[in-house]
Amino acid sequence: MTQLIFSEKEYIYMKVLAEHSINNYTELIQMRLDKMAICCYLIGDKGSNACALVDPAFDTKEILSKIKSRGYTVTHLINTHNHPDHTAGNASIMSQTGAQLFIHRLDADKLRSFMNRAFSRMLGGSKSPKPHILLNDTDTITIGKTTLKVLHTPGHSPGGICLYMEGNVFTGDTLFVGGVGRTDLRGGSLKTLLKSIHEKIYTLPKETRVWPGHDYGALPCSTVEMEIKTNPFTKSR
Ligand SMILES: [Zn+2]
Ligand SMILES: [Zn+2]
Repeated sequence: MTQLIFSEKEYIYMKVLAEHSINNYTELIQMRLDKMAICCYLIGDKGSNACALVDPAFDTKEILSKIKSRGYTVTHLINTHNHPDHTAGNASIMSQTGAQLFIHRLDADKLRSFMNRAFSRMLGGSKSPKPHILLNDTDTITIGKTTLKVLHTPGHSPGGICLYMEGNVFTGDTLFVGGVGRTDLRGGSLKTLLKSIHEKIYTLPKETRVWPGHDYGALPCSTVEMEIKTNPFTKSR
């Protein structure tokens, strides 16, 4: 945790919470979006100046401004799952960058459903374009020298994923700091969610940083060890 730099508010709606060098060629920026306390992530490959955005649902103008200031080009847009609070910015980002859209194959069909479109509009976004790449468990996504591994973690939604990258895991709405995603929406299952967390996340190295999809906890990020020890929702099965 010592290498993390937490910075002051930079934009009205979008706040940079953490900037972190993963290694010599990858950097990570955690952005908190005011609406629904969404956490959007920039994963930048310094050598190629390509970057991935994870769940840039709102405030896309501010997000793109931040990216431009760092000299990156968005090549990958990755949704951790198909809920509108994570996907409402897809159309805006893709139309301005030409990025390819990635989502797990089991969440792809509902991405453009009537309900998703309606909620996206209510949230100020629009209908998502079609995804380019349908993901499966254990797939890898490569951005220059940077590699993300797909962990299929159903339970919050059938095609929910986490993304693992060298000592860091992006957990979407599967695992929050001190909490877990809701399981009462269509396709949700608490039993399946807990199985996913225990088998796919809690088996990662204990020092792995946990980067959640919402900033709901006492801190904006955590570690696998901290969640195993303190998360009340995953303590007993
Ligand atoms: Zn969700
Ligand atoms: Zn969410």
